[in-house]
Amino acid sequence: MTGSSSQFQQLEKLGEGTYATVYKGRNRSTGALVALKEINLDSEEGTPSTAIREISLMKELDYENIVTLYDVIHTENKLTLVFEYMDKDLKKYMEVHGNQGALDLKIVKSFMFQLLKGIMFCHDNRVLHRDLKPQNLLINSKGELKLGDFGLARAFGIPFNTFSNEVVTLWYRAPDVLLGSRAYTTSIDIWSAGCIFAEMCTGKPLFPGTANDDQLIKIFRLMGTPNERTWPGISQYANYKSNWQIFVPQDLRFIVPNLDSMGLNLLLSLLQMRPEARITARQALQHPWFHEITNPTPLVHQLNDPYQQNQSQQPPQHSHQHIIDQQYQ
Ligand code: AMP
Repeated sequence: MTGSSSQFQQLEKLGEGTYATVYKGRNRSTGALVALKEINLDSEEGTPSTAIREISLMKELDYENIVTLYDVIHTENKLTLVFEYMDKDLKKYMEVHGNQGALDLKIVKSFMFQLLKGIMFCHDNRVLHRDLKPQNLLINSKGELKLGDFGLARAFGIPFNTFSNEVVTLWYRAPDVLLGSRAYTTSIDIWSAGCIFAEMCTGKPLFPGTANDDQLIKIFRLMGTPNERTWPGISQYANYKSNWQIFVPQDLRFIVPNLDSMGLNLLLSLLQMRPEARITARQALQHPWFHEITNPTPLVHQLNDPYQQNQSQQPPQHSHQHIIDQQYQ
């Protein structure tokens, strides 16, 4: 069913994202609040039929940790996506409720669990996000966290500038993508989840890079500079350089000091440099750090995981892991 824009009363502007301006709206017949995401279409390029097809598929992604897309309204030079209304994004939530941005660990745990559930659902349905960041994780007054913008990167690609002409942030981008990999796999969303995890704990972005190379260097400073021994095949990447400054891996305990050792173990599994070594969302949800969470939603709602063959079942092989394993003993 395709709605008409006159069905909705446009209220105040809520924000600007990578692709669109977002307004608060009200359904004229039911009175329900919605978020109207308006994407201006480039008139010279005609109707982006693949984009519209991709986005229409998103309507099928119905899950508690994904922002519901109610409708797609296509007028001559505008695409309006009608989403469920949420109170605020995670960036604003951290500003308002955090202690200098840092959230209480109980809240971090709940948000991480919900974030990973949303990611798992999308990956099970062969959808990647590719641009996860606090601004497109939305929180409602019940403390529910939902992913927004899923599928838009596939429909439109990730532009260099956002709609408000800000540069698209690189802070949550996986090292393999920064190195020039175009083989996008589910592991790129997992890296972003790791960056968001650390940021919720400390209130500060983990890798606040300013450009592609600077972003890589910020990652290497913490995780160690990779080489053919630690990452076989790395020299084949387009952006590989043989003269990178060599950094040794830092102990994440000092970077995220308020996180317990089990949480650090999970963080390190998400932040594996080699994409194949990164944990999957499904595996992460079974991590002991989440054992105290009682959630009625069974994790096995989707049994086929088409990406599983890409993911290593091995625990991370890393010096941090070694330290943390020793702590458990
Ligand atoms: P996005 O394009 O998803 O990054 O959206 C830009 C901004 O609009 C976000 O950072 C939110 O502040 C706001 N926003 C997006 N979607 C919603 C929604 N469903 N409900 C409320 N606010 C939203």
